[in-house]
Amino acid sequence: MEKQRKNQLAAIVTPLLAWYGQNARALPWRRDREPYHVWVSEIMLQQTRVEAVRGYYERFLAALPDVRALADCPEERLMKLWEGLGYYRRARNLQKAAKTVMTEHGGVFPTDYASIRALAGIGDYTAGAIASICFGQPTPAVDGNVLRIMARLTNCHQQIDAPAVHRSFDEQLRAIYPPDAGTFIQALMELGACVCTPQSPKCALCPVCGACLGYDANTQTALPVRKAKKARRVEVRTVFLLRANESLALQKRPDGGLLGGMWELPAVSGERTAEEGLEQARRWGLDPVEMEKTLHHTHVFTHIEWHMTCHVIAVSHEAGVFTWVTPEALGASYALPSAFRPFLDAYALTAKQ
Ligand code: SF4
Repeated sequence: MEKQRKNQLAAIVTPLLAWYGQNARALPWRRDREPYHVWVSEIMLQQTRVEAVRGYYERFLAALPDVRALADCPEERLMKLWEGLGYYRRARNLQKAAKTVMTEHGGVFPTDYASIRALAGIGDYTAGAIASICFGQPTPAVDGNVLRIMARLTNCHQQIDAPAVHRSFDEQLRAIYPPDAGTFIQALMELGACVCTPQSPKCALCPVCGACLGYDANTQTALPVRKAKKARRVEVRTVFLLRANESLALQKRPDGGLLGGMWELPAVSGERTAEEGLEQARRWGLDPVEMEKTLHHTHVFTHIEWHMTCHVIAVSHEAGVFTWVTPEALGASYALPSAFRPFLDAYALTAKQ
């Protein structure tokens, strides 16, 4: 039975590699196998769609072309390059790891799995992807895409979040790795992104359909089985877009936690009416002259939802504990998470009127 299963899975290797050779998308991080390039792309692609990453990747590499440039980059500039991509801890960890590469590896990206895995922000999958793609090593590289494909290929109805299932898929895959494990892993990723997609797998176009037990059993759309997700926590907040002449008020979030150390619009928890919003502005030592408008926006993070009311208030002059910046300075130098972007866009529209 075990041998039969291995043969069934081994049958995917040749057609998958042939399909990948003809259909791989021309993505900017596939131009070479330079570890710095693969590493940056793998970190950016965590929780983020390929199309969203493309532009960021090109801009990031143009600004920070190598590990040394990343290690030496001032934090504000780094955050600005990452602005809008979300999960900002990824950028901080990238820089932390770059500093480690400079100090502990003489500026040369390590080649062995254990040293790569020890760098900040690099987990099992990312270390495996870098070691296999850049250095051809047969390391594990099982991410959500691969778990989904494996559940369907093997018609596995166990919860794929279980460590034992993850380990079993990893072992089964490593048993069939061809000599160029990196290309095989990239081919699996591509299959997951373009053909064996989460909601509607395109089995009629799939190069490994003939070896897919899920397809044979017509269970492919019911797979993979996952643990039920916990509902997101809802936080109600009131945000203030405070305008003084041409400037608006920003403050820094505390380090650590959600959006730790990032700039934000001043905010308080709970929903405040317009009158309460004006009162809050006075409490901050400001002199409000007009409540211009009230906006609403919900921003969804992985585990939390912010339900925000935003009061746009004109104040007579810059005061209080805030940092006051012009829209130009904000655009050039201050990284503001995308949760606040709809309010900023509304501000820009108002400012033009
Ligand atoms: Fe996925 Fe369908 Fe291909 Fe099976 S046949 S691997 S379910 S796309």
